[in-house]
This record gives sequence, C-alpha cells and structure tokens, in this order.
Amino acid sequence: RANFMEIKTFEEFDLDPKLLRAVAEMGFEQPSPIQAKAIPAIIEGRDIVGQAQTGTGKTAAFGIPLLQSIDTKERQLQALVLSPTRELAIQIAEEFRKLGKFSHGIKILPIYGGQDITKQIRSLKGGVQVIIGTPGRVMDHMRRKTLKMDTVKMVVLDEADEMLNMGFRDDIETILTAIPEERQTILFSATMPKPIMEIAKAYQKDSEIIKVVKKELTVPKIEQYYYEVKRKNKNEVLSRLLDIYAPKLSLVFCNTKKGVDELVEDLKGRGYFAEGLHGDMKQQQRDRVMKHFRSGQADILVATDVAARGIDVDDVEAVFNYDLPQDDEYYVHRIGRTGRAGRNGTAFTFIVGKEVYKLKDIQRYCKTKIIAKPIPSIHDVT
Ligand code: ADP
Ligand code: MG
Repeated sequence: RANFMEIKTFEEFDLDPKLLRAVAEMGFEQPSPIQAKAIPAIIEGRDIVGQAQTGTGKTAAFGIPLLQSIDTKERQLQALVLSPTRELAIQIAEEFRKLGKFSHGIKILPIYGGQDITKQIRSLKGGVQVIIGTPGRVMDHMRRKTLKMDTVKMVVLDEADEMLNMGFRDDIETILTAIPEERQTILFSATMPKPIMEIAKAYQKDSEIIKVVKKELTVPKIEQYYYEVKRKNKNEVLSRLLDIYAPKLSLVFCNTKKGVDELVEDLKGRGYFAEGLHGDMKQQQRDRVMKHFRSGQADILVATDVAARGIDVDDVEAVFNYDLPQDDEYYVHRIGRTGRAGRNGTAFTFIVGKEVYKLKDIQRYCKTKIIAKPIPSIHDVT
C-alpha cells in the first residue's frame, strides 16, 4: 500500500503564503474535496476536467492555482477564464480579488457584453494579467484586436456544460484555437455530457478527469418540498410560505421573463422587497439588482434560469420553483443556489396538474426525495 495521506489543509499544498493568508481570511478552514484534488493537479501543470456538485468551491479550485501561476512582473495577459454569464464573470472576478488580496500587483478584469466597450478597452490597455469573460465579448475584443491571446498560459472554462447549452461552442473553439498550444487547459462542469468530452479530447493534453460526485446530485443539506397548487393561487401560496419560513434571502425562479416581471409587481404590491433579474434587462440594471440582493436591500430575487446561473450569494435560505423547470438538470442548478458551503437551505417547488409526472422524473434524475406538503392555510401565517 502506498503511503498516501489525504490532504486536509491548505498548508499541505505548495501555495504562496500570500494566497494562504487570503484563504484563511476568507474563512476557508479546509479544502473542499474538489479543491483537494484539483489544486495540486493544476499546480503540477496538468490539464484537468473537474466535475463536482454546485456549491462545492469550484471557483477557488481553479482560482487558487491560477493566481499562483501569475507572474506579477509580467504585465501581459496570462490567464483567461470563460464564463457563461455576465453575473458569473463578475462573481468569479470578486472571488479572485479576495483570493489575490495579498498578492499585490495582479490585475483582474471581468469583461462581458452590455458593458461600455471603450471603458473595457482602456482597462485592457492598462495591462491586465487575468481576464474573466463571457465568450461573446472575448470574441468581440479579439476581432477588434484589443485582446491578444498569444501570451495566455492558462485557460479555464467554468460551467462548461452551460456555455455549450447556451450555444457558445463555436466561440469557445475559436478562442481556444487562438491560444498557444503550450497553455494549460482547465474545464469545470457540473455535468459531463458528450460535447464536453469532445472539447476535452480536442483541446486538452493528456487530461485528468477529477470527479467528485456523490450518488445524489443535490446537496444533502437542502430540504426539498413540493406543493400542488392551482396556477391562479401560486402568488398567494408563495406569499404564505415567505411569511411562515421568513428566509433571510429567497430566490424565486420563473420560466419566462414576463413571468418574472409580473411576479415582481405582485410581490411589491403585497409589500415585499422583491426585484427581478432576466436577460432583457440592461447590464447596469442587472448589476444594481444583484447588489441589492447581496446586501439584503431586496430580500427576494425573482429570476429566469439564465440570469441566475452560477450565482453564489450567501444567505440564500430558500429557493422557490414558482414554475417547474423545463429540464431536470435545471432543478439541480436552481436549488443549488441555496445550501451553499455546508449551510442549510430549503427548496419549494410548485406543481400544477400533470406536472406531478415531471416531478417524478426530476426525483429519479436527482436520486433524492421531494416531499409533498399541504398548502399552508392563512391561519398558519402569523
Ligand atoms: P461552485 O462553483 O462549485 O458552485 P463556488 O465556487 O461558487 O461553488 O463556492 C461556493 C461557496 O463556498 C462560495 O461562497 C465560496 O466562497 C465558498 N467556499 C469555497 N471553498 C471553500 C472552502 N474550502 N471552505 C469554505 N467555504 C468555501
Ligand atoms: Mg461555479
């Protein structure tokens, strides 16, 4: 038997003390399982495909070794992270800034559509070593020649499955082709469908697949309930549940943009601090809404799937599937917005009529039980 000791502390990795200090300040006491496996592999220079459930710390799993690899004496672009959405790009940049807090001189810039491009160009001219961008905007800068890939040493595709679902495959392939081959290529994904494996095969070298997936796809600390409701009663039931459970922050999912807008208006009319988030909104508006939600100024965020993808906000104690997700996978992603980093959370799902069959499929897919609950009566609300 090999003398193999499981890594249990960040000190056991070959990390820059500045990063260790930042990790400690962020309150990370122990690496998560995906971090324990991915960090040493990436530091070694390997190409990896990382798969782990949502909320298990994938951002730091690539962020820590990525920041460690940056040569602060060189001002050119050294690492590129591709992210499916603007919100996620901003969030990754924030986590990187926290991780890089003591590593002075690392310039990190999120670039995404909807943001003033001349401003981005000015920032890029100032010399940026790490970019977190959405594929569309990265391509835009490549076409304008305001972003050159020839000095990139590490590229990360975060939420790779989602980027492919969103139709970014061609863009991703164009970007990967533009980066010199001696680069390190890292893929992270919550699921591992065939197109991901194809990308891995075509663009990675001798890659190691690191899977940390449990039997059930959802995080165990999330209690999952469902309610059979009439469509016209959904708002009333939601309101009762909000009053009874009084979650610190709630995320409510609707399947359409119109549905989001209408529900926000209804909730506001009932006296709740609710705001909406969907793809038709201007970037500035979206940023403002996220700020309000993070700070608790708005404690209910009503969103579509695309807008909420990957969002990591502490204190989301409840997720409501106001509309049943179209796709089994989306159920997992939605409820994964709560119960983050070992916290508790509750997921409430509304079903109407025949949707009960769809819910059975979801339970089979997730290998978890979603418990039926009676609709609380108005007397339960105090
Ligand atoms: P994922 O990308 O896997 O869905 P995130 O990277 O968004 O998950 O991390 C979820 C949350 O857990 C974040 O708030 C992050 O700061 C926190 N976190 C990450 N690693 C650790 C750790 N080792 N210990 C405690 N919290 C952590
Ligand atoms: Mg993530």
